[in-house]
Amino acid sequence: MLSYQHGFHAGNLADVHKHSLLAWVLAYMTGKDKPLTYLETHAGRGLYDLTDAAALKTGEAARGIAIAQDWFAADHPYRQVLSRIHAAHGPNAYPGSPLIAAELLRPMDNIHLSELHPQEFAALQTNMASYGGVIRQRDGWDMALSLCPPDPRRGLLLVDPSFEVKSDYQTIPRTLANIHRKWGVGVLMLWYPVLTDGPHKPMIGALKSAIPDSVVHEVRFPPARPGHRMVGSGLFVVNAPYGFTQECARVTKLFQDRLSGTK
Ligand code: SAM
Repeated sequence: MLSYQHGFHAGNLADVHKHSLLAWVLAYMTGKDKPLTYLETHAGRGLYDLTDAAALKTGEAARGIAIAQDWFAADHPYRQVLSRIHAAHGPNAYPGSPLIAAELLRPMDNIHLSELHPQEFAALQTNMASYGGVIRQRDGWDMALSLCPPDPRRGLLLVDPSFEVKSDYQTIPRTLANIHRKWGVGVLMLWYPVLTDGPHKPMIGALKSAIPDSVVHEVRFPPARPGHRMVGSGLFVVNAPYGFTQECARVTKLFQDRLSGTK
């Protein structure tokens, strides 16, 4: 259990999809002069070195953020966060979602992160030290269910499981619907892998029936290795802010145009 380590995959095209839209949503939400709560159930370590053995072993970042960084204009919030992280930690550093959020949030906002893996949790504590926030070595679903609705009520929950447990595909719709019942105004973002054999499809069907007023956005990309099952990245978003679907359309076009011809 807990064998997944995001360091092997940090900065891949799924991260580019998830992190660019997360940054866009948070930039939109922080444009209003009202405090918010950021919750993340499966935080990872927050900061990655794309020259370490794990990243080099898979080469996913080399086929991900290394080519995709220039897809985004200099004033896009994702690109702005990347620039600040490079300035602080060097050009080979890549921020996970907790640091992307922490870079975009303001002193008036609250951060709650959960990470179960002991080493990832310890690294997350170190990497978040200068930002603050409450960081728990606790099951992320338990944290979300116990904190929702959070104070302040305005806010975003990112759910980014590693899908190591097959039953996740069955339990996630029920749990997310439960969170939505407790926190009707919360923006909920669930990431999932688009896999060749399609286990995500019934999950998305169940999510759409449970929470009809939601947005599903998927991008496709070549598998990281021949035969690798992941051929795309998906986001299920509840209470998406104004303009989100237009931003999704821009991201779709980027993936289609810039990856055409790559295998
Ligand atoms: N969200 C991160 C990002 O984008 O930078 C990556 C997170 S990674 C996909 C999933 C993480 O969830 C792993 O670090 C794993 O140890 C952790 N994890 C697995 N099960 C968990 C649980 N029940 N509660 C909290 N963390 C969990």
